[in-house]
Amino acid sequence: MKVAILGGAGFIGSAFVRELNNRNIKPLVIDLLTYAGRLENLKGTKHEFIKADIRDYKLHDILREFKPDIVVNFAAESHVDRSIYRPQDFVTTNVMGTVNVLESSRRLGFKYVHISTDEVYGERCADELSPLNPSSPYSASKASGDMFVKAYSRTYGVENIIVRPSNNYGPRQFPEKFIPKAIIRSLMNLHVPVYGDGSQERDWIYVEDTAKIIWDLIKKAEWKGEVYNLPGGQRVTNLELLKLLGRVIGKDISIKFVDDRPGHDRIYCMSTKLKYEVTSLSEGLKKTYEWYNQNKWWWEPLLQDKFFKEDEPWKV
Ligand code: NAD
Repeated sequence: MKVAILGGAGFIGSAFVRELNNRNIKPLVIDLLTYAGRLENLKGTKHEFIKADIRDYKLHDILREFKPDIVVNFAAESHVDRSIYRPQDFVTTNVMGTVNVLESSRRLGFKYVHISTDEVYGERCADELSPLNPSSPYSASKASGDMFVKAYSRTYGVENIIVRPSNNYGPRQFPEKFIPKAIIRSLMNLHVPVYGDGSQERDWIYVEDTAKIIWDLIKKAEWKGEVYNLPGGQRVTNLELLKLLGRVIGKDISIKFVDDRPGHDRIYCMSTKLKYEVTSLSEGLKKTYEWYNQNKWWWEPLLQDKFFKEDEPWKV
């Protein structure tokens, strides 16, 4: 099976490359290497790599030459705070980039796996049939991408599935995100900023579990536009998460309450029609903490990033 992974140098995409390697598949990774995409994430994996932008027409030539059976699209602008600070790239990559990949799929006939998010449902408990009700520029761009996948399925018969994971955590996640930011700042004896009162609820899934479940879905997909929610089934408030992390690290995390970010969803909560087992949150946090503790070389060059350094980085 020939697989191309778009955004394979990012957090979840690189975990999926490892999952494919475990199955003796050497994928083609296509990635623009934005601030979030790093070849360091692919260290030790077997893959071919081409640097390209999913918004660029040249993507079609690359895919025509490679002749994939399946294309899995992780390429996205993925950080809500950045989308509040500067939304434009979210529209071009998450919407227009998706349409560009769909155009290639309808012309070349490969099967398309679209990686979406629980955030498209907004702050509610949702099943796969629930309406989309996004709150942030990020989730609005992801919901728009999903709508185009549906339109290409219906209009052109593009074979696809849409996968909506909940909050992922694990090794190689960019330090702008809540868990790596909390781990790294604690390792540096810095406070961890908590938005609002910290009572927002998130459902967490370990990244290797996500990668494995996506592979299992690919094997059983009917490619008729099925939607699959991927919750971790482990929902905690942000404050509870920091308490759990403190137990893993072996010290209380120093918390600083800061202004809540605008439009902040109070809760994400999905059910799923799938059955699978996941790593427990305490076990996953332990593995994640150990990885960051042992791989300072990976995150030390990233410490000047505004979205790691600042307490309220979305503020212009
Ligand atoms: P990430 O930000 O770590 O990685 C995104 C990757 O896409 C990077 O390698 C980046 O270089 C690449 N990229 C960005 N724009 C590109 C472009 N125009 N052309 C080519 N490559 C480009 O993101 P992630 O956390 O790995 O998320 C992957 C996917 O999963 C995204 O679609 C995201 O919306 C979705 N998702 C993430 C989470 C999470 O908790 N991380 C949860 C649910 C869904």
